[in-house]
Amino acid sequence: MTGPTPHYSALALLRARLAGGGFWRPLWTGRLLKQAYDVVVVGAGGHGLATAFHLARDHGLKVAVLEKRLVGYGNVGRNTTIVRSNYLLPENHYFYEDSLRRWETLSKDLNYNVMYSPRGVVDLALSDGDMIGAARRGNAMRLAGIDCEMMDRAALDRFCPELVASRDRRFPIFGALVQHRGGTVRHDAVAWGYARAATALGVDIIEDCEVTGLRTAAGVATGVETVKGYVQANRVLFATAGHTGMIGTMLGVTLPIETHLLQAMVTEPIKPMLNTVLVYVHPGHGETYLLQSDKGGLVMGGYLDGFPSYTREGQWSRMEDVVQGAIAMLPQAAGVKIVRQWAGINDMTMDGSPIIDRLRYDNVFLNAGWCYGGFKTIPASGAACAKLVASGTAPDLIKAYRLSRFETGHMLDERGGGPFPVRL
Ligand SMILES: Cc1cc2nc3c(=O)[nH]c(=O)nc-3n(C[C@H](O)[C@H](O)[C@H](O)COP(=O)(O)OP(=O)(O)OC[C@H]3O[C@@H](n4cnc5c(N)ncnc54)[C@H](O)[C@@H]3O)c2cc1C
Repeated sequence: MTGPTPHYSALALLRARLAGGGFWRPLWTGRLLKQAYDVVVVGAGGHGLATAFHLARDHGLKVAVLEKRLVGYGNVGRNTTIVRSNYLLPENHYFYEDSLRRWETLSKDLNYNVMYSPRGVVDLALSDGDMIGAARRGNAMRLAGIDCEMMDRAALDRFCPELVASRDRRFPIFGALVQHRGGTVRHDAVAWGYARAATALGVDIIEDCEVTGLRTAAGVATGVETVKGYVQANRVLFATAGHTGMIGTMLGVTLPIETHLLQAMVTEPIKPMLNTVLVYVHPGHGETYLLQSDKGGLVMGGYLDGFPSYTREGQWSRMEDVVQGAIAMLPQAAGVKIVRQWAGINDMTMDGSPIIDRLRYDNVFLNAGWCYGGFKTIPASGAACAKLVASGTAPDLIKAYRLSRFETGHMLDERGGGPFPVRL
């Protein structure tokens, strides 16, 4: 579909429905693969789609996004929708803050409601040590101009009464670092919004089109081999998240990335009871984070399953840890039934920070290493990665995310970008 989105009145919708429903046109399907493009993007996850959108809109390039399965099949459609910029290191917090600011206006930019909900992200502290860590992170954020608030127990009781922070507990809550502009964004709307906006700019999104090889000549890439045939490309970007290791093998490069499984689950819908995002690292059962979806289900997750895997089936023991953590945090949730569990495969770097850089050839690029926190970065990553691919030069915001840091030892060690106690 090209041109501005038409406005559908209620009457028009009704008429179309009565006429047999032939009203909705597919937004991105039905495109035919052309022989050649300025840029081929491999992977229609959040990062691939956002980069394609910016390559077309900001740089006027002819782009194809080639997707092995379906738009939204990967982690962009499997995550727990949390966005925040409460990172400690300057190399990270400016980038994550740029992304958070972009979420605030993304619905307008894409003309698609991505349902940004700044309900706050509350990182709970369970000891004096946690409070010191929280204050350190908060101070670093404030110095960078990023909002956050340290709360003691009494302030938390006012902000999040359902938590009853002052309740007598085995591991008492000391306080929290709260980022009020953090919150949630509807994940599948992000995939659909970018896919629709990119298509409207002339990007071809081709589903069921696995890329199986890279063709090179005289030291540069000339195109990609796919299950639908060869496609010529002046530049190639790999944005394949959990499959990045396989791309490394395809290109003969060993990447500092392991693929790990992360699971999440949701309960049956219940009345509104939680108006923020709670994150909590518990000495007994690891990490739990918890939020209530717009449909009313309590969405929760925690640590990785703990071993490399390409399966998307989580271990029962990890589910138990997460649920125990959730009940310790909100005992009133005990007895609510879990109705669905799922998992995704994450591209884990050893320092928890991403890689946006060239890969082996001058005209081949990699956007990867998002670990379990890459949903929140999609808008900033798309804009910055498009600049890198279009101009060949990394903008300042992503200069630290070069691959060579693993050779030189200049790690950006956020430990997965989690809250103050160490995450996996
Ligand atoms: C359970 C869970 C909860 C999470 N929660 C959060 C959260 O709350 N907040 C947050 O910020 N992050 C979260 N994340 C992490 C976040 O979802 C990911 O870091 C991010 O989505 C990864 O980037 P992507 O969207 O581009 O990846 P994906 O959506 O996985 O896209 C990669 C695409 O590449 C395709 N592909 C792979 N190989 C090929 C090939 N050879 N040819 C063509 N296509 C190929 C795949 O099919 C896939 O569609 C979570 C992840 C999981 C699994």
